[in-house]
Amino acid sequence: MSDSNQPIRLLVLPGDGIGPEISAATVTVLEALARRLDLRFAFSEAAIGFAALEAEGTTFPQAVFEAAQAADGVILGPVSHNDYPPADKGGLNPSGQLRKRLDLYANIRPARSRPGFAPRCGKPLDLVTMRENTEGFYSDRSMHMGPGEIMPTPDLAMSFRKVTRQASLRIAESAFALASRRRKKVTAVHKANVLRISDGLFLECCRQVAARYPEVAYDEKIIDAMAALLVRDAGVFDVIVTTNMFGDILSDQASEISGSLGLAASLNAGEHHAVAQAQHGSAPDIAGQDRANPASLIGSAGMLLGWLGERRGEARLLRAAALIEQAIDDVVATPEGRTADLGGTLGTAAFTAKVVAALEAAA
Ligand code: ATP
Ligand code: MG
Repeated sequence: MSDSNQPIRLLVLPGDGIGPEISAATVTVLEALARRLDLRFAFSEAAIGFAALEAEGTTFPQAVFEAAQAADGVILGPVSHNDYPPADKGGLNPSGQLRKRLDLYANIRPARSRPGFAPRCGKPLDLVTMRENTEGFYSDRSMHMGPGEIMPTPDLAMSFRKVTRQASLRIAESAFALASRRRKKVTAVHKANVLRISDGLFLECCRQVAARYPEVAYDEKIIDAMAALLVRDAGVFDVIVTTNMFGDILSDQASEISGSLGLAASLNAGEHHAVAQAQHGSAPDIAGQDRANPASLIGSAGMLLGWLGERRGEARLLRAAALIEQAIDDVVATPEGRTADLGGTLGTAAFTAKVVAALEAAA
């Protein structure tokens, strides 16, 4: 049990689109949390994305990476990397860079229904997608390969999907460790009927880890069937473990089923670092209009505090994580507490003020 009263050093990277709005909201909520629980945060902020490209000629300056390495945790706003210039003109995806260079191999993406708010599948759900975060079709992010896509002729494009034993074993291990603290069920999602070798290896690794967790039920679903089963009743799933791109897609689906992408928190975690990041993108269609739901990034920051709390054995941080979830639950429970994506009328700032009030009022 560490009782050091050192402040927790959080690096805030606002990013593009709705990023500045939802990261400001997240800092406001964390400041209220610090007052409530007598925690200390030391925030620093750095520009990434288009803001950095203008000022420094790159969307992800080296100094920002070094600050991320040195921080206790990072709060990463969404980035519009699809619109960045090519890498040789300074366009780097900050999210990919952090995942790769800090070895954040697990992307933990919870989706659950909230009290008073009907999920879209009509039935309650509480699941976590454990998405492998370093390889798969995103193989350009892995250390040992060149570009993940090539175009040998103007009429032929190829993508490479990389699956390694090491990465599959460690994501499976994370999934089973998490499930053993939850409802004790892991579902591996794959397409091994077509991707026989790569998803075959992924499943072999999941089965190997499953054998070490006899108390955790294990099953396997093909990705297409899984997409249908989630809509039918997402409530039957506990922890889903899958490769990078399937996890990206399924977790968006699960979050939208739970209510809205605007509620979709996530944490990128490795052995030594963690980065809080909303599941969604930069939502350019609503940027700068006070319309974004900041619950996604606020919840992600809560996950970061929970991760730090577990590593350090600090009950106060675990309490902080739980309080954030509780406050979001309390606010969205009634129609007056909802942003437009949830069918309500609150703007980003008004929603944030309600979360702060709920934090202050929570038992
Ligand atoms: P990007 O290219 O950065 O991924 P995108 O256009 O794909 O951007 P997403 O951010 O992935 O957009 O969002 C998809 C849809 O969900 C958009 O209509 C967006 O407005 C909406 N959305 C995403 N995040 C939020 C949020 N936090 N609050 C409200 N609506 C959101
Ligand atoms: Mg998107």
